[in-house]
Amino acid sequence: MLQDARVRILNDKPVRPDGRFVLYWMQQSQRTRLNHALEAGIRKANQLDLPLVVLFGLMDDYPEATLRHYTFMLEGLGDVARALADLGATFVTRRGHPRDLAVSLAQQAACVVVDRAYLRHLRSWRDHLADHSPVRVVEVDTDLVVPVDLPSQKPEVAARTLRPRIHRLWKEFLVDCPLTPIKRREAILGRLPELRSDFDPLDVEGTLKQIRCDRTVLASPIFRGGPIEAEARLGSFLKSKLPGYAEGRNEPYAGQTSGLSPYLQYGHISPIRLALAAADVKQHPADVESFVEELIVRRELSHNHCLYNPRYDAYEGLPDWAKRSLAKHASDPREHLYTRAQLESASTHDRYWNAAQAEMVLTGYMHNYMRMYWGKKILEWSKSPEEAFATTLAFNNRYFLDGLNANSYGNVGWIFGLHDRPWIERPIFGQIRYMNDKGLERKFDIDRYVTQIDDIARAHTGRPVSKGLLV
Ligand SMILES: Cc1cc2nc3c(=O)[nH]c(=O)nc-3n(C[C@H](O)[C@H](O)[C@H](O)COP(=O)(O)OP(=O)(O)OC[C@H]3O[C@@H](n4cnc5c(N)ncnc54)[C@H](O)[C@@H]3O)c2cc1C
Repeated sequence: MLQDARVRILNDKPVRPDGRFVLYWMQQSQRTRLNHALEAGIRKANQLDLPLVVLFGLMDDYPEATLRHYTFMLEGLGDVARALADLGATFVTRRGHPRDLAVSLAQQAACVVVDRAYLRHLRSWRDHLADHSPVRVVEVDTDLVVPVDLPSQKPEVAARTLRPRIHRLWKEFLVDCPLTPIKRREAILGRLPELRSDFDPLDVEGTLKQIRCDRTVLASPIFRGGPIEAEARLGSFLKSKLPGYAEGRNEPYAGQTSGLSPYLQYGHISPIRLALAAADVKQHPADVESFVEELIVRRELSHNHCLYNPRYDAYEGLPDWAKRSLAKHASDPREHLYTRAQLESASTHDRYWNAAQAEMVLTGYMHNYMRMYWGKKILEWSKSPEEAFATTLAFNNRYFLDGLNANSYGNVGWIFGLHDRPWIERPIFGQIRYMNDKGLERKFDIDRYVTQIDDIARAHTGRPVSKGLLV
């Protein structure tokens, strides 16, 4: 079902029935299944009796992206190409700035549909398209369960304030959105000069060779991108990890979580698909509840942060109480101080932290509990909280496959007090929540986690984490 609340008209330009096609600019939601924007494009094309063109624009040097991110994304594009061909849509894959490519194709279109994005620069791409397109541009929110501006129109202070608002609305939005068959199943590639592809979405290696990007962070040896892989991971999660998730999700070595955050980041799978599939597992209601809390409430809280806090990616965007408290302790002595290079190469005195850093650098992922510990220690071991914030966010976005995402900003902010409350005052942290290695030892089999990451390091670099990472 495509709910009206997902749809926003971005300009007051006309729909031009004499356009050559309806354009769906696929940017955020790189999938066909449960994609409300694609469904909106199909409906409009059918209504106007026009073919549907789907555009994907691939730019060089996407901000902060590395070879790791490009590889994962391009792996997914092949799945999308095959699925769109089956549906009967024309897929145009072009190199260049996606925003400009969308404007260029809009010149021949009857109207344009785009999926909604949540970060500042992606929002500005859509605004630019709305201004420069001669025809109507419609944006469809399809990567959140509840459209981002519906439950709240202001920055929420914590999960506890957003939760009831989301709970009130989510039933209406937790429904499938099957695709209407395309009426004019015509491949119209090549019929107009703009309707050409200049890279082959099925040739990942070939495209990667042409792309200009930071090649110092290699593809993940563990994660392969794409909607097909996302479905496979979902299947194994439901079968073997969801039962026991509520208890087991925090244990770092157990891998009892879905590992689906990179797929959510590229829109390879819809959060609605995950929530509906989990809800079908009737025998484990507490586990489903816990999963859905993370997937919907926590994730959508981060999106609320990015939409309503203009400084969402800056230290200045943290809550005032947190900045005040950190400033009061900024000159407290630090027992350990590390440079960014020492941290990056996992060369600290703390083998738990080093293991977490190595997991991130080598695989593009880190267990959630370790992410919390990891960030808190960067705060403790940096010269200033501002420097710690910059370091944490830079590592997060450089190495994580799920980085460069609303969750990146919401959660790095959490390390520094965002969406949290004041705790007992202590050195360096002030009233910011503190974590230490004793907690890891008390709660978890943390040595097992360290061994696990050491095995990964040996397999991929030939050396244990204790020798430091070559970055
Ligand atoms: C310092 C720090 C940095 C983080 N950076 C990112 C990031 O860049 N990108 C990112 O997607 N997540 C980030 N997280 C949140 C969380 O750690 C990851 O989403 C989670 O570990 C992904 O693993 P999973 O898919 O197996 O999670 P699961 O436990 O299977 O959860 C399912 C989904 O719920 C969402 N989710 C889970 N935990 C959280 C959370 N705490 N906040 C918001 N959503 C959540 C994710 O989309 C996740 O894929 C960060 C957390 C911390 C503490």
